[in-house]
Amino acid sequence: EEVYWNDTWVRPEEAFVSVFDRSFMFGDGIYEVTPFYAGKPFMLKEHVARVKYCLQEMNIVFDTSILEDLMLEAVNRSSFSEEDAAVYLQISRGTAPRSHFIPEKVQPSLLLYAFKVDLANFENRYWKVMASEDLRWHRCDIKSTALLANTLANEAAISAGYDENLLFRNGFFTEGSHTTIFFVVEGTVYTHPEGRQILSGITRKVVLDLCQQLSIPVKEEAFPVDGLASVEEIFLTGTTTQIAPVSSVTIDGKGLFSAQKGKITTRLQEEFLRRTRG
Ligand code: PLP
Repeated sequence: EEVYWNDTWVRPEEAFVSVFDRSFMFGDGIYEVTPFYAGKPFMLKEHVARVKYCLQEMNIVFDTSILEDLMLEAVNRSSFSEEDAAVYLQISRGTAPRSHFIPEKVQPSLLLYAFKVDLANFENRYWKVMASEDLRWHRCDIKSTALLANTLANEAAISAGYDENLLFRNGFFTEGSHTTIFFVVEGTVYTHPEGRQILSGITRKVVLDLCQQLSIPVKEEAFPVDGLASVEEIFLTGTTTQIAPVSSVTIDGKGLFSAQKGKITTRLQEEFLRRTRG
């Protein structure tokens, strides 16, 4: 499949990046992943709006009005244009001699491509997770390509046989290494409020909207690690995760939560399927 790079579609092996690209040297760039269900974009405007927000917060000047068309084109050009897919896009600040300060006249670059995702039967994939301290910076609202703390947290989970690593800061859960966390206690859904400690997930927005539609009470509050004993259901959300039931949580080798998929998770999954697949 081709990738969009330097204003043209090229085969990946023909796409070259400078060793002085700031996203290569500093992780100085942002990215986005937008879902296409059976070839149709979902929450496209919201994904572009998040790109715009991140660019603003990073002081990168880039015209986002070209992105919607390019994402549609990426899927249309692909060999899986009718299937479940996603578009990855990355905007780097650009190439300049290495310096911590940002040189003037640096020209941002865009990489964009579609890839296939296997989302079938997500409702019945149970995630066994661990939890550990959130070691990331304090601007987790920026979808930065500098993901080292996320990738190391995820690697710690996968290499130990878990599916995800839930992160906590000062005794409160923030989010997963690549997912948003939801807890259900006495029928109320809890999730971390938006702000600098989490990424404002688009799937999070959809789930909050579904809760409203279904009259499920919601509290956007940070949930304490020591509150796990009272939790009825936990589920994780994300573009490539959808809504995933958590079957167990382990911290430092101790099992602190275990459950089957609960009623609220099931209800939200059903409505989510309806909204995304019509
Ligand atoms: N939190 C983090 C750290 C992520 O990387 C992601 C991305 O998938 C999410 C949450 C979920 O966001 P979204 O629902 O927009 O995919």
